Amino acid sequence: MGTKRQPGPEGINKGLRLKCVNRQQMILRAVDVEKLIEADHAARAIWELVGRLDLSGFTAEIESVEGEAGRPAYDPRLLISLWIYAYSEGVSSAREVGRRCEYHPAYQWLTGCEGVNHHSLSDFRVEHQAALDELFAQVLGVLSAEGPITLERVMHDGTKVKALASGKSFRREPTLREHLEQARERVREMGDPRQEEVSARQAKAQERAARERVERLERALDEVQKGQVAEPRRKRRKEPRVSETEPEARFMKQSGGGYAPCHNLQISTDAAHALIVGVSVTPSANDEGQLPPALEEVKRNLGRLPQQVVVDAGFTTKETILAMAERQVELIGPRMEASERSRPRRGIDPAFAHAAFVYDATRDTYLCPAGHELTHQGTRRHQAGVLYHAYQAAASECWGCAYRPQCCRGAGTRHILRSENVPVVAAFVEKMRTAAAQAIYRLRAAVAEFPHAWLKAKIGLRQFRVRGLKKARCEALWACLAYNLAQWVRLRWRVHPAAAPA
Ligand code: SF4
Repeated sequence: MGTKRQPGPEGINKGLRLKCVNRQQMILRAVDVEKLIEADHAARAIWELVGRLDLSGFTAEIESVEGEAGRPAYDPRLLISLWIYAYSEGVSSAREVGRRCEYHPAYQWLTGCEGVNHHSLSDFRVEHQAALDELFAQVLGVLSAEGPITLERVMHDGTKVKALASGKSFRREPTLREHLEQARERVREMGDPRQEEVSARQAKAQERAARERVERLERALDEVQKGQVAEPRRKRRKEPRVSETEPEARFMKQSGGGYAPCHNLQISTDAAHALIVGVSVTPSANDEGQLPPALEEVKRNLGRLPQQVVVDAGFTTKETILAMAERQVELIGPRMEASERSRPRRGIDPAFAHAAFVYDATRDTYLCPAGHELTHQGTRRHQAGVLYHAYQAAASECWGCAYRPQCCRGAGTRHILRSENVPVVAAFVEKMRTAAAQAIYRLRAAVAEFPHAWLKAKIGLRQFRVRGLKKARCEALWACLAYNLAQWVRLRWRVHPAAAPA
């Protein structure tokens, strides 16, 4: 930067002397990499915590060894730290992470001012699924040992995250077959030597893209043949359709209205410090039946089940209540009442519906509008958590009754069903009537929905960047790792700055 003179205002002889910008120069700078970021920077915390973990699951597949030809591989500790830090900053693009390694102080500190190839970053994110599960469990082990995770109370909830698919990519079976044949033809043509010359790297990329398209179309055809329909019931068409780019995506209702191809991200959160203790991704559009597998995930991660789990109405089916009782996990959720009224039945006058019959608990009979008894005939059906008792009037009374045309359907006599919760479900319903259970349930939303809000608003996980449930789960795990480490930095690292390296 030099100086230049400018003429002063009229009547004043002295001109202004300003520093001017000189971009026509080359400069060399000395960079103290260690001082690129402050002592309590989150990148240091991530690097330090990842360094404590066993990364053998990531290193097992590295083929580059000392004394042999070839480039050295990237250190898994570096790639893990980069991805966790990137997600914590809301960066989920491998290209953007690669770019930031060139100029961003935190990324430069992590890499030691070396560049990192975005292809390597992209592949690393989804190629080590088992090792990533193990990494997530190890981080939870550290957090559990240090105290923030207690598993005394876990709040569980699901949220819809958009899949990497457009609504226009959904096709019926004939179109899928046609496109599959075209994609296979394309793969065959790629082996033709008359094709245009391309570099070895381009050829490999093109071959991989064509092969993956064939695999996706085969999976889509498989899904559509299994009858796995993607549309919600009220929007369902005659012939099922499946996305040819993301066969495992399903149309799910959005919080802002409308439907979009999504995956259902299930998250279990420990209530003590709102740390995520279980992550899964399912194609199910609703949460029914998702709690038992989610708790198995928590058990895999931490070696034990939570003492208590709190969920919303989408989870509290009778099957789930029984499953939690079997696992000896206390369930808190909106109570369900056994239905005492059957649905209106065709051919029966509403005045003679179930409500018109009076139940006598002492005699275990019903009294009909004509004053006759319907006696207990036995338990006719048994669904999970519910007993159905059947009651029937005597044929001689119905056949001689003036109300028969309105009360009985067809030639038979009148019978009605009374549903009754099995003891476990009845006990759950009773418990949820208490003020204590209601008070616990009121805590649910603040804890269970906080990680969802964080992942979507801060980390930007509103749409997956990868295709397929397995890869989507990998991305969800990276985002949840970033969330957990951000909480750990807040709870432990910043509270104990002495833990930071000198
Ligand atoms: S039809 Fe049978 S059940 Fe119905 S009101 Fe008459 S006697 Fe009672």
